[in-house]
Amino acid sequence: MAEVILKNVYKRYSGNVVAVTDFNLEIADKEFIVLVGPSGCGKSTTLRMIAGLEEISDGDLMIGQRRMNDVAPKDRDIAMVFQNYALYPHMTVYQNMAFGLKLRRFPKAEIDKRVRDAAQILDITHLLTRKPKALSGGQRQRVALGRAIVREPQAFLMDEPLSNLDAKLRVAMRTEISKLHKRLQTTFIYVTHDQTEAMTMGDRIVVMKDGFIQQVATPQEIYNHP
Ligand code: ADP
Ligand code: ADP
Repeated sequence: MAEVILKNVYKRYSGNVVAVTDFNLEIADKEFIVLVGPSGCGKSTTLRMIAGLEEISDGDLMIGQRRMNDVAPKDRDIAMVFQNYALYPHMTVYQNMAFGLKLRRFPKAEIDKRVRDAAQILDITHLLTRKPKALSGGQRQRVALGRAIVREPQAFLMDEPLSNLDAKLRVAMRTEISKLHKRLQTTFIYVTHDQTEAMTMGDRIVVMKDGFIQQVATPQEIYNHP
């Protein structure tokens, strides 16, 4: 069960920047949640607090039944996908996808099975021996997704994963990610500044402004009452 609950969460950076103010949200197991809003409204900070990459200044983060505020990122059982892919340039696609499992000392056979299964889901089996520089933008994004999938995490966090892709590919990858969500049956928390992306992908959409939640609604509700 990967219910994610944020209760009265605040983030203050040094220099009196309050990036997130009294953020309250209960994300259901298997839900696809999109955080949307203009640049600087606190989306990334919120995601990074869930991932454990940023300390929570005040409030509580629960994942499953467990309070996670002080749990190290590697012990949170969640995977994050970034917009700049963050692939290791000197490693092959296979090695990039295997690396996180190797660090966690998974047996080789298990690593191999997970990498091949993920590669098949993402249709990148033919690319396993290539290095990132020999891949297109869309292929790199798939590898980045693959690296997250092999961990079989309780939740996927995605920070503007499509914003480096051209318009046509972005639309295609939206569909891919929605399909992936259905297939994996896992909680997805997705950050974007793109309203169309939010409306086409989210089960629910969290609209943020100046560090506050402005609205939480389904796409249908927003469509009916914008
Ligand atoms: P978004 O993802 O919506 O663009 P961010 O969460 O990145 O917004 O930023 C929210 C606010 O926090 C902005 O005002 C930003 O300048 C500030 N901020 C983000 N990261 C830091 C940091 N490391 N130190 C100080 N301020 C930061
Ligand atoms: P190590 O350095 O521990 O050998 P590697 O990352 O080089 O780890 O490889 C781990 C395992 O995955 C090895 O058994 C290797 O043969 C296999 N492997 C690596 N790259 C590929 C690939 N592109 N296609 C199939 N198997 C691969």
